[in-house]
Amino acid sequence: MNVLETLQALRKELNQHNYNYYVLDNPTISDYEFDAKLKQLQDLETQHPEFYDENSPTVRVGGAITKNFETIQHEYRMYSLDNSYSKDDLLDWEKRCQKILGDVQLEFTCELKYDGASISILYEEGKIKRAVTRGDGFQGDDVTNNIKTIKSVPIHLKGDYPAKFEIRGEIILPFAGFEKMNQELIEIGETPYSNPRNTASGSLKLQDSAEVAKRPLDCLLYTLVGPNLPVSSQFESLQKARNWGFKVPVESKLVNNIDEVFEFINYWDVHRHNLPYETDGVVVKVNQIQYQEELGYTSKSPRWAMAYKFKAEQVTTVLNSISYQVGRTGAITPVANLEPVQLAGTIVKRASLHNADQIQKLDIRIGDTVFVEKGGEIIPKIIGVNLEQRHLESLPTEYISHCPECNTALVRIDGEANHYCPNYYGCPPQIIGRIQHYISRKAMDIDGLGGETVALLYNAGLIYNYADLYELTKEQVIPLERMAEKSAENLIKGIENSKIIPFESVLYALGIRYVGETVAKKLAKHYKSIDNLAKATLLDLVLVDEIGEKIAQSVVQFFENVENIEIVERLKRYGIQLEIDETNNTLVSDKLKDKIFVVSGVFETYSRDDLKKAIEDNGGKVGSSISSKTNYVIAGANMGPSKLEKANQLNIPILNEYEFNEMIIDA
Ligand code: AMP
Ligand code: ZN
Repeated sequence: MNVLETLQALRKELNQHNYNYYVLDNPTISDYEFDAKLKQLQDLETQHPEFYDENSPTVRVGGAITKNFETIQHEYRMYSLDNSYSKDDLLDWEKRCQKILGDVQLEFTCELKYDGASISILYEEGKIKRAVTRGDGFQGDDVTNNIKTIKSVPIHLKGDYPAKFEIRGEIILPFAGFEKMNQELIEIGETPYSNPRNTASGSLKLQDSAEVAKRPLDCLLYTLVGPNLPVSSQFESLQKARNWGFKVPVESKLVNNIDEVFEFINYWDVHRHNLPYETDGVVVKVNQIQYQEELGYTSKSPRWAMAYKFKAEQVTTVLNSISYQVGRTGAITPVANLEPVQLAGTIVKRASLHNADQIQKLDIRIGDTVFVEKGGEIIPKIIGVNLEQRHLESLPTEYISHCPECNTALVRIDGEANHYCPNYYGCPPQIIGRIQHYISRKAMDIDGLGGETVALLYNAGLIYNYADLYELTKEQVIPLERMAEKSAENLIKGIENSKIIPFESVLYALGIRYVGETVAKKLAKHYKSIDNLAKATLLDLVLVDEIGEKIAQSVVQFFENVENIEIVERLKRYGIQLEIDETNNTLVSDKLKDKIFVVSGVFETYSRDDLKKAIEDNGGKVGSSISSKTNYVIAGANMGPSKLEKANQLNIPILNEYEFNEMIIDA
């Protein structure tokens, strides 16, 4: 095989594996093998820019940047749906249809109504051409780069697809992926997203498609549009689309009368809670296309379809008390303790109250009868108060002014919703939380030591910070609850073993606010040692690629604190890795040593991440914005004019990607 044939074979194979995994949910190779093949393809594509293909499976990784989302007119309008809230509404709709059509035998397709962001994707000659958001129905935004990173969206079709058509559906974020994203945010002390739907639609408008690629988005498709489609019914469209390689919801059902529609609704009203993503109703469509055409559209929606909205499950119960939890970062979360009540199949005892503003807005008081609802989130929420049942003597809730754990006066930073306990060094849940974070799997990964043991050790007065872990002895640990000779030994050994954990993980383990795993990696790579990082000024930090002001400030603050410095010095003495291990370095060369690059625009042969990696692999550094410290700017297509001007002003050489290649290729 020549190079081109190898490339094509790899692309085909990877597309098939993507399809097996993300559409059929039936992978046939391991993730490891998949990654290896993808890497092979990426390398080949980098070496052979002449064989570039905008629809290679490597686009899944993202990298293309969309600065301004272009507005696109929809060739076919994207309509809304009429809503119905009762079965009577649906019966009326059926009657209206029958009246227009006369005495014909109607069939219906029942589908679930997915709660996400609608999308219309254009395919030409079996290849993805363009993806546009709904916008106002007449025109939307071109989000093609981002949609291509969603792995269940086919970039090449199979079978007997029409030459040109659009397919429409919903971009959704399954609960599991949503929870995972939130967990990561909580870990670094950021505010979690409020619901999957907004997060999904927000994702479509991210400028950096590599960020979109990291989000576990999915795409369910259910409508074909275009001239002369080879289908005579909605249900047939679904089947055909599935054969062409699209992910079409399997819950859809063809039924013969309105009673069967009700059966479908009743079934899913209960079972929707077991689905991996949010649905808020059922969409009933007249199945036969011929009848759809006869029924036509109102000014807003098709006459041949009707949405039926499920009632959000809601109950009333009494608010017994409010407790306040203190997190690792000191953030206070109010929690409602409820009189236990049955809701959507589970017994609910607690509900989240978010923050002080929320309590004040709803005027929630202890003893109130409150409405509790379960939406997309796992934790139910209080959505209102039944004022008719309020006790005369009840008083407005006064938010706590002092920390429930350490009694320090709480603070609230301007613009933030949460109150914080500022007693960083003396507040037990913060101290324990920090040590728990330090030992966690993604941080120092200390075997033989769990979160509960950390609390025991703290309560026994044996540790006050993570540096203290390294002075623990077996004899001190054995007397603790549930400890024995062997488990104590394992604990000490686990702590000892953490001394080989690499610097980037140590940096994450320190628990600096806003420094999550990715940021820690960036900082470790850039500064190479804790001493360099500790010396960095705010200005230095924000010039590092992808480091914003908030992170920079937090880092500076951390190292301004003498107690932190002292802990870091102790970690150094114990032999913790506080610099990058150069012997372990995978540098390809040091041709770019000490040179700072700024990357701008879209490249033909590199994704942005690959380009940055190529710079770093050769000893260079990547900066975020052009300054007098920048040595080179690498410019791709669509480089911003202001950047260009700045580079020219400062006399910084501007290279294209090929000129950059010259710098790193061996002569
Ligand atoms: P609405 O926004 O309430 O007018 O509802 C219309 C929207 O529902 C459409 O734009 C789609 O994005 C969405 N939708 C979700 N599931 C379906 C489905 N099975 N069929 C049609 N539209 C759906
Ligand atoms: Zn406190």
